[in-house]
Amino acid sequence: MAEKITEYPPGRYDCDACGEAVMLTIASSELPECPRCGRRKYKDIPEPKVTEKKSAPPKKFKAGMYMCTACGEQMIISEETDELPVCTHCNADQMKPA
Ligand SMILES: [Zn+2]
Ligand SMILES: [Zn+2]
Repeated sequence: MAEKITEYPPGRYDCDACGEAVMLTIASSELPECPRCGRRKYKDIPEPKVTEKKSAPPKKFKAGMYMCTACGEQMIISEETDELPVCTHCNADQMKPA
């Protein structure tokens, strides 16, 4: 899944309603409200830059309760992970979702 980020470049924006000049100092996903009239409409808005942010692929194992199939010890995995830890009780590498 890719997320799209829209960013307006920094620079001067002139309010379309009251003519107030608003300086945008850093690239922003949203133009600020005009300090004078509170609107968000500006003249000659440049094309915003669109970048696609790729989200990390999902991990193999979800967070939750796991059980060692060798000794029955239960373990809570608090974050999703690609690799399950070994059993804290018998050291076997045989954790399964409980
Ligand atoms: Zn304005
Ligand atoms: Zn075990």
